[in-house]
Amino acid sequence: MRDLTTIENQDYDLIIIGGGINGAGVARDAALRGLKTILLEKGDFASGTSSWSSRLIHGGLRYLEYFEFPLVREALKEREVLLRTAPHLVSPLLLTIPIYGDRSRPYWKIWAGMILYDIFSFDKTLPLHRMLPKAKFKQLFRSIDPEGLSGGAQYYDGQATYAERLCLENIISAKEAGAVVLNYTEVTRLQRQGDRLSSVVCRDVLTEKEFTIRGHNKTVVINTSGPWVDRVCKLGVANNHDAPIGKTRKIGGTKGSHIIVAPFPGAPETTFYVEAKSDGRPFFIIPWLDMYLIGTTDIRYQGDLDRIKADNEEIDYLLKETNNIIPTANLSRQDIKFTYSGVRPLPNEEGKKPGSVTRKHILYDHRKEGVTNLISLIGGKLTTYRHVGEEMVDAVYRKMKKTAPPCTTDSQPLPGGILPSDRRIQEAIDKYSDRVCLKSINHLFSMYGSRATEVLTLVNNEPELAEKISPSLPDIKAQIVYAVRSEMAHTLVDIARRRTTIAMHAGNYGLDLLPVMTETLNKYCGWSQEKCARACQEYRIYMEENCLPDYQLT
Ligand SMILES: Cc1cc2nc3c(=O)[nH]c(=O)nc-3n(C[C@H](O)[C@H](O)[C@H](O)COP(=O)(O)OP(=O)(O)OC[C@H]3O[C@@H](n4cnc5c(N)ncnc54)[C@H](O)[C@@H]3O)c2cc1C
Repeated sequence: MRDLTTIENQDYDLIIIGGGINGAGVARDAALRGLKTILLEKGDFASGTSSWSSRLIHGGLRYLEYFEFPLVREALKEREVLLRTAPHLVSPLLLTIPIYGDRSRPYWKIWAGMILYDIFSFDKTLPLHRMLPKAKFKQLFRSIDPEGLSGGAQYYDGQATYAERLCLENIISAKEAGAVVLNYTEVTRLQRQGDRLSSVVCRDVLTEKEFTIRGHNKTVVINTSGPWVDRVCKLGVANNHDAPIGKTRKIGGTKGSHIIVAPFPGAPETTFYVEAKSDGRPFFIIPWLDMYLIGTTDIRYQGDLDRIKADNEEIDYLLKETNNIIPTANLSRQDIKFTYSGVRPLPNEEGKKPGSVTRKHILYDHRKEGVTNLISLIGGKLTTYRHVGEEMVDAVYRKMKKTAPPCTTDSQPLPGGILPSDRRIQEAIDKYSDRVCLKSINHLFSMYGSRATEVLTLVNNEPELAEKISPSLPDIKAQIVYAVRSEMAHTLVDIARRRTTIAMHAGNYGLDLLPVMTETLNKYCGWSQEKCARACQEYRIYMEENCLPDYQLT
């Protein structure tokens, strides 16, 4: 049970609404720079768009076409920062672009793009691009559709395999630096006094209790609620008139869906970045956790933000286009292991094609709307979250009319930051390999970084926790307990979808593992039988509403 009274009776310098990657990045930077910070998230951390991305830490090669050079440079710089400060969570990723004379951007254009991309990342540690002539390309990728192929290109970007944990580690770091971080806390009202927001009213989603977070006369409120930005603005009602703060729409979200499939005949060893045969849209085929993550689509979206699902047409489009490029794949609906879909919180640019809407982020100061201490984030990619945090905290200090201490997040590792050569990995293998299999120990270090030792420590007192959750997965029961005791997980979805990858990895959307998960939670975390039954029911509903394709439900 959370002690809301202590949390309520404090004055905060900074109130952050939304605990996706951007809110988490702001909270970490703010706490590290000495601001008394509270972050409020209505669901779980990273339960919004941040858990539905392609998981690439990339400069955005495609944005070069739209002359978004500053954005590409910013993202490429951030890619380097993350490779350095979160080496356990962000790793180099080799991408391959097949080039077709008739149906893709021409060879010269891709080559020019590659050169520019290398120029904008002149200070990188990753290798430079290479162009592959047709014969060489065909030799390397025998399963690729050869018709009209004129060659290819290869270059490096980054991959955040566990993007949800990247967000969580920022939350944990913020907490360690003194911030209060609350998931399952929905902001329901922004209270205004004159031209300032004076407090925010919240609902504890777990207990239905209402409480208020107050500010002082310099407090700043940050709205990092992603695609919900406009909705959060509308919670702010002027004193005497019922006029909402956000008069103009700021977000023009587009929906993007992914499918996950098992390895298939002709599956590439590197990530493929291809242009769809039917409409020329670029999409990725990404090796991910011994499976393939394929996506994405890009469709204007104005529906329910809490229930977003890949629809049948999107799934068929991604299957068909993968089969077009790799004819031996022969993928069909039966091959789908998981699907997911999210909404990009893009700036509202009416009349533009979704793909051409700018991916730049904007710090929107609501001073223009008569509120002097509210800033909303419009846009903001997974890749650039740290820089957004830095800019936002600088802006907060300016609003408070105080000098900002230097930002350190570009050099300070995230809490689990560890290199593969670290001696702690070998020490853990020596200590635990009689109880936990080597594959699982390595898996823990790849997910939790140095914090894997905390997960492993649990098996000292509770040996049963060394057991695997399923024979086909490297995950062990200790992870379930660790998620609840140390990582603020409250639901089965938190555990299976965002603290671990069980839901996506296990098959059947993780549903078959509910008994073993609830048994562990009942025995080690004090979850009653009733709570377990309710949690299973909620898990099923969540999967039906967000991940299980419609054609499987009818
Ligand atoms: C299909 C797709 C693919 C993508 N691929 C990539 C990629 O490969 N690389 C990349 O860099 N970027 C990618 N992106 C973009 C990136 O994922 C998002 O821009 C980023 O995750 C946005 O994070 P955020 O924190 O701003 O928003 P969110 O993650 O949506 O977080 C906002 C949070 O605010 C909370 N909230 C809302 N209302 C309230 C309230 N009233 N009270 C409290 N909390 C509230 C929500 O619950 C949510 O958790 C992709 C996006 C999509 C959709």
